[in-house]
Amino acid sequence: MKLTEHRAKAQLAARGIRVPRGVLVRSPDEARVAAADLGGRVAVKAQVHSGGRGKAGGIAIAETPAEAEVAAERLLSLELAGESVRQLLVEEAVTIVEEHYVAIMVDTSLGRPVVMRSSQGGIEIESMTESIERSVVPATGLVDPDPTTAALWAAFTELDALLVEVNPLAVDDRGELIALDAKIEIDDASAFRQPALFAEAETESGTEREQAAAALGLHLIELGGDLAVLANGAGLTMATMDAIVHAGGRPANFLEIGGDAYTKAVPALELVLAQPGVTSLLVNFCGAFARCDVMTAGVIEAWQTLVPDIPIAFSISGTGQDEARAMVRERLGIEPHETMADAVQAAVAAAAGSTT
Ligand code: GDP
Ligand code: MN
Repeated sequence: MKLTEHRAKAQLAARGIRVPRGVLVRSPDEARVAAADLGGRVAVKAQVHSGGRGKAGGIAIAETPAEAEVAAERLLSLELAGESVRQLLVEEAVTIVEEHYVAIMVDTSLGRPVVMRSSQGGIEIESMTESIERSVVPATGLVDPDPTTAALWAAFTELDALLVEVNPLAVDDRGELIALDAKIEIDDASAFRQPALFAEAETESGTEREQAAAALGLHLIELGGDLAVLANGAGLTMATMDAIVHAGGRPANFLEIGGDAYTKAVPALELVLAQPGVTSLLVNFCGAFARCDVMTAGVIEAWQTLVPDIPIAFSISGTGQDEARAMVRERLGIEPHETMADAVQAAVAAAAGSTT
């Protein structure tokens, strides 16, 4: 999992590395206010996970608050490497005298962390591999007299990182070091050791509704078609997406509602149906440990609370399927489909406005 620049900088600042003063914003208005508060020139920077933002036009230098507002408007309309820009970091601009590169990363062929340094940092570092000085961290750990490297090592070990990188580590016009950009990538296998970091990252990326779902502990992904999907478990959800596309349909979104998420069925249903363009809902449950009857009861209750004016199709199989199917018949007055393929076909047809 990658931390966005502003989160990575907060981690480095907490360990004594100097970073520019900055404010995270989500609108041109906020950018103007932030620039005025910071005073003077500012850098306005798209907060996306891909590198090379400078080259791709994801960074602007603004001389005035009004310029910052205009720059923010342009940046917020960008898509960089497939990722929409939703947040900007407005920072006091730094006068750069030198640009260095410093990073600690796992060398997967050695199975060891390595420290990489270059006095020629900046935007082109990827193509300057020959200038990089590389040293393998001994098994006893890194003892480095350089305070920046020591701080990076602290971040690397404390955060279970695979990569901690500062590029550029600039020397400013007062001759002092300052981290102008930061990248931190955390080992996904450490999610259980870093719950706060992973939770923060989830509420930060995604659309407003995806973030609202994440805040409720639900996993919603919006795709832009017309058929909304509730399913239990990631595997079944992916298979449902494939089946919909195979049947000629266009998934609008999907929300996993397994485990105990059925207790949040009302907000879950509200979120998937709130997406513009949704014309039909498919519910696909496959029970094993998760009971179909419990999950279905949650969805039926939500459906009867919200009374959406769109067709709904059910595929229910596995533990508790007979009780679940009976509930759908009795309480919603519709027939659950015999197979997942039937349910998918019906839901795709319903979404397209067909009645067959
Ligand atoms: P990246 O392209 O995603 O790596 O984004 P960076 O944050 O590294 O910025 C790219 C380049 O923009 C840096 O190498 C700098 O040359 C320039 N830059 C970034 N922030 C500032 C700043 O505050 N002042 C100035 N003058 N240049 C900056
Ligand atoms: Mn950079």
